[in-house]
Amino acid sequence: MHYFTPKRCASSRKIIYHDKAQAEAAARQAFIERDAELWVYRCEYCGGWHLTHHDPKEEQFLRGISAQAAVQRGKPRSRKRGFKPRRR
Ligand SMILES: [Zn+2]
Repeated sequence: MHYFTPKRCASSRKIIYHDKAQAEAAARQAFIERDAELWVYRCEYCGGWHLTHHDPKEEQFLRGISAQAAVQRGKPRSRKRGFKPRRR
């Protein structure tokens, strides 16, 4: 078995899929294997496709809130470190 290192987006740190079909196939696979419901969306930064756990509209909404909160606290959002996928 061989592993390939997927390209990651400089903006979102997510894996870049080259087309929608590829991203949707990965989303389906995640649903089958991990029961994870994922949405596919087009990234405006890298021009590729990413998967998200949130409905893209909802994620945009949440991002708006945390960006606002960061401005209120007067410091930029910290980068996520040591992220581990949750297991059920
Ligand atoms: Zn991207």
